[in-house]
Amino acid sequence: MSEERKDKIIQDGVSRRSVLGIGSAALAAAAFGELSAHAQTREGTRKAEGDHSSSNPGQENKPLLAENPHSNTPPPTDQGDVGPIWYSYDLTHKRIQEGGWTHQVTQRELPSSTEIAGVNMRLTAGSFRELHWHTADEWSIMLYGNARVTVLNPDGTILIDDVSKGDLWYFPAGFPHSIQGLGSLAEDRAAVGGQKVQSPIQYTFRMEAMAPTKRSTGGEIRIVDSHNFPVAKNIAAALDIIKPGGLREFHWHPNAPEWQFYMAGKGRMTVFMPVGSARTMDFNANDVGFVPFNAGHYVENTGDTDLVFLEMFKASEVLDFSLNQWIRRLPPEMVTSHLKLDNNAIHTIPAENLEILPR
Ligand code: MN
Repeated sequence: MSEERKDKIIQDGVSRRSVLGIGSAALAAAAFGELSAHAQTREGTRKAEGDHSSSNPGQENKPLLAENPHSNTPPPTDQGDVGPIWYSYDLTHKRIQEGGWTHQVTQRELPSSTEIAGVNMRLTAGSFRELHWHTADEWSIMLYGNARVTVLNPDGTILIDDVSKGDLWYFPAGFPHSIQGLGSLAEDRAAVGGQKVQSPIQYTFRMEAMAPTKRSTGGEIRIVDSHNFPVAKNIAAALDIIKPGGLREFHWHPNAPEWQFYMAGKGRMTVFMPVGSARTMDFNANDVGFVPFNAGHYVENTGDTDLVFLEMFKASEVLDFSLNQWIRRLPPEMVTSHLKLDNNAIHTIPAENLEILPR
């Protein structure tokens, strides 16, 4: 389709409404929706938000709208296509068996995430996740309760350890492991040969219990990667706790796409992609978020309780660039000529990568 023809459809379809008819609401073809999204301008959207243009006299799925209002009615800065950035475990079916259930958010549900897939799993007291291994590394965090994990090393030593809420484990690809309900840890260790066969490598980590890597009045972040948890060679993670009104500052990751799991609270993330595309969506507990490789993003706490979420990377370490820090490391005249900020304004910007901005 020629650019001229596209412009014509956008103009006719949205500004003059001749396609749908005045004052109507209808289900238009997907191609039309895409074209009108590209046509959104900041002034146009601001104006339209103030009148009845943004209302929908037709039917709406109110509960779904209430969950994600900014997906449906985006900020005027959103435009273009950044691909899927949201899914929820609560849209996937649970595979329920005696002893618990699993449900998954994989590439089938979130096609943009090609490096990390997630499983949310429940094991009732006393039941087992049967003996197995995977072709990919496994990184898991406990959301509730207690469990015992075992993992065998190629040299025949074995780790047997207990994990509780906020603890994680890391099982390298191919390493056989189990997850089970609890008995006596000492008895289980003794039964397989005690100290003699005890793994010299630690595969579990008390993530929630560790001291924050960085902390501000806006919240805290805990980073667990191969620097403080050597076995985590291929999966790095950060646990973010953002206070109401707080912000995980504008940043991007130069080494991997980001896969997120929202554990508590309400948040809103905006993701920026070249050239000039942006997408904003809301996130609630049990939702999964995705940020494409190198895409700029920030996450706001839009609720009145702490927003808690995981940032996960298929990488050996968490690396990020802070937009604030970049600006403050540049000669001020350069910033002024690019961003039209005067010297006073530049000096209100934090000079360090704070991760979570103070409130
Ligand atoms: Mn991030």
